[in-house]
Amino acid sequence: MELIDGNKIAADIIAELKTEVAGISGRRPCIVFVRVGEDPASVSYVAKKEKTAAEIGIESRMVLPPASIKPAELFSLIDRLNADPAVDGILVQSPLPKGFDEVAVFRRIAAEKDVDGFHTANLGKLCQEDDSGFVACTPAGIMELLVRSGVSLTGKHVVVLGRSLIVGKPVALLALQKKSWANATVTVCHSQTANLPSITRQADVLIAAIGRPEFVTADMVKPGAVVIDVGINRVPDATRKTGYRLTGDVHFPSVSPLCSKIPPVPGGVGPMTVALLMKNTLKAYNTRLKS
Ligand code: NAP
Repeated sequence: MELIDGNKIAADIIAELKTEVAGISGRRPCIVFVRVGEDPASVSYVAKKEKTAAEIGIESRMVLPPASIKPAELFSLIDRLNADPAVDGILVQSPLPKGFDEVAVFRRIAAEKDVDGFHTANLGKLCQEDDSGFVACTPAGIMELLVRSGVSLTGKHVVVLGRSLIVGKPVALLALQKKSWANATVTVCHSQTANLPSITRQADVLIAAIGRPEFVTADMVKPGAVVIDVGINRVPDATRKTGYRLTGDVHFPSVSPLCSKIPPVPGGVGPMTVALLMKNTLKAYNTRLKS
C-alpha cells in the first residue's frame, strides 16, 4: 500500500502558485472570505484558507457577519463584493446557519468570482466540459491528487459514495469527462442505494464522501483498489485536548492494508481543497484581467 501525501502534493501546487503570483506587477489577486457565525469547523477552515492565501501572496479580506444576519442583508453584501473591481474571488463558507437557502446564496455570487464553483453557470460548464468555468475545489483537488499520484482513470470503474453538490456530483462528472486524465466508468451511490457493498467492491477507484465516520470497511473494498477518503468527521475523544479526533469516512486500519493507494485523514484531500481554491482565485484574477 502506498500512502498518498496530500500535504506534499498541495505544497507543490502552492509553490507553483507562489511563483506565478511573484511574477505579477500591479494589483494582486484578491479573495474575500464571508464566514457567517462561529461554527467551529468553519472558523478553522477559513483561517487555514486565509493563511494559505497570505503564503502565496494572494490578498484576502475577511467578512464576518453574525449568525443573525438576514438573508436579504447577506445578498446585499454579496452584491457589493460582486461590484467591487478589486475583488477577484468570493467564498461564502458552508454550512450557513439554519434558515439560509445555500444554493440561492451560491447563485447570488457573480459566476466569474465564484471560486468555489457552486454557481449554476459553473456547474453547467462542468457538464459541458467547458474549462472556462470554475470547478468546485474538493472535487478538483481529488482529481489533482489522483493525477499527481500517477493514477490513471481511463477505463476504470470509479464508484463515488455520496451525491452532494459540493463533492459527490461534481467529482462524478469530472471522472466521467472525455479527457485523458478522466474517461472513467462512473457509478454514484447514496443513502438509498441497495446492496451498497456489492457495488463498492467493484470499484477500481472508490471515492468516499458521505460524512459517516469509518463507514467504509474492508469487506466493501476490492483488494488493490485506490481509495480516496474525502470525509472529515469530528469524533468525540476524551483523551485529546480538543475533546475530539478527526477521522475520515473510511476505516483506515482495516482498509489501508488492502488497497494500492490511499490518502490519510487528515493530510489527504483537505489540503488539496485549499490549494485548489487558491488556483481558482488566480484563474479568476487572470480571466478578469483579460476581459
Ligand atoms: P453531505 O452533503 O451530507 O452529503 C452526504 C452524501 O452521502 C449524500 O449524498 C448522502 O445520501 C450520502 N450518504 C449518507 N449516508 C449514507 C449511507 N449510509 N450510505 C450511502 N450514502 C450515504 O456531505 P458532503 O458535503 O458531500 O461531505 C461529505 C464528507 O466529506 C463530510 O465528511 C465532509 O466533512 C467531507 N468534506 C471534506 C472536504 C475536504 O476538503 N476534505 C470538503 C467537503 C466535504 P443522500 O443524498 O441520499 O442523503
